[in-house]
Amino acid sequence: MADRIVNGRRRSDDLLLDTALRDFYGAADEMGLSESLISMLSYPERRLDVSVPVEMEDGRVRVFKGYRVQHSTALGPSKGGIRYAQDVTGAECEGLAMLMTWKCSLAGIPYGGGKGGICCDPTALTRREKERMSRTYGARIAPIIGRWSDIPAPDMYTGGQEMVWIMDTICKMLGHFEPAMLTGKPIDYWGARGRTEATGRGTSTCGLELMKVKGLNPANMKIAVQGFGNVGSYTALLLKEAGATIVAISDTTGTYYNPKGINIEKAFEYMNNNPSQRGRKLTGFEKEGCEKLGLNDILFLDCDFLFPCALQGVINQETAPKVKARYIIEGANSPTTVEGEEILKDAGAIVVPDFLANAGGVIGSYFEWAQNLQGFSWTEADYNKRLVDLMTENFNRVWAFAQDKKVTMRRAAYMQAIKRVSDIVALRGVYL
Ligand code: GLU
Repeated sequence: MADRIVNGRRRSDDLLLDTALRDFYGAADEMGLSESLISMLSYPERRLDVSVPVEMEDGRVRVFKGYRVQHSTALGPSKGGIRYAQDVTGAECEGLAMLMTWKCSLAGIPYGGGKGGICCDPTALTRREKERMSRTYGARIAPIIGRWSDIPAPDMYTGGQEMVWIMDTICKMLGHFEPAMLTGKPIDYWGARGRTEATGRGTSTCGLELMKVKGLNPANMKIAVQGFGNVGSYTALLLKEAGATIVAISDTTGTYYNPKGINIEKAFEYMNNNPSQRGRKLTGFEKEGCEKLGLNDILFLDCDFLFPCALQGVINQETAPKVKARYIIEGANSPTTVEGEEILKDAGAIVVPDFLANAGGVIGSYFEWAQNLQGFSWTEADYNKRLVDLMTENFNRVWAFAQDKKVTMRRAAYMQAIKRVSDIVALRGVYL
């Protein structure tokens, strides 16, 4: 993916990185940020590219490409997930790491932004291949990982198991135990009770807070949730528990629609108790009283709230004009392009941006890290309460700023997040 300079500013051929850069420039210009700061913050501080040779089951060695990017450490150690997906590139990780900088800054937690990933098809790998890949990747990024330098976590197609493999490898290299080097660990292995549901809890909190400020009753709301992975599944479950009707869910096998409401607990059960569901998919869930529709149809259904919790770039120039929901809460990272957002804004829709709406994950990671450093674990109730309180406070701060400045919530969130980072860069100087 090539870089370009347009009007003196960095742009990229990678859609996600380019979207992150354009959103940043828009807010930076509105704030009157200096060109020096703009150019500093449009590049990551550090990017490590690694090769990851893996001995496959047939005895041959395949080499995968891996990355770890630290966009900014102005506010503290860089923080962000590691994803396994076929479209992972260094440029994409740069864009995602930049989003993490704004996410941590906006959330008021003491971290900069990072991200990593391996370009692979995780569904085509056996468990042992995945273990070897995770361990080798961990060993190769180890020099820049640590509880006070860069703290990874799960992201797309990674979870507690991958974190254990990576952490175990790095701890063995160090010769001592260091649980705070990485978050999203299983509960019995220095993880935190509540972390699994944390992103969905935060995303659903944003939805419920938006209903409050708009005077809407959750019991009257029809909701569509795209993606039934970690973020989408818990978002749907928690919104249903709050009284809303989830009219549609989806995954890579299609959209499952029931205007009377989907039984989300059943969908969880269906995935967890059906060993034939390779990669825990919803295949066949139409048997549970749903109509099966096409993959993208979930975006265009008749509903009040749409939660895109799956892929980047899904709400764009082509799809945005067909979105009927008036409220869009971004559970995924970068699901809306700059053009898509313009169309939604002109149509009067409200978008709660990704780095506000899905910050529950990294806020939960911060709680896990704090517990690890203390060597003391909190109760789940305490963890959940602190998470919901912080998400509620952050949502309302951005909402009030957006109303006051008459800007979109994305612009308001960017302006607040950039301000905290730029103030610290001004204190610390260029020599960061
Ligand atoms: N991968 C999640 C995100 O994109 C969580 C990151 C973290 O906990 O560090 O926000």
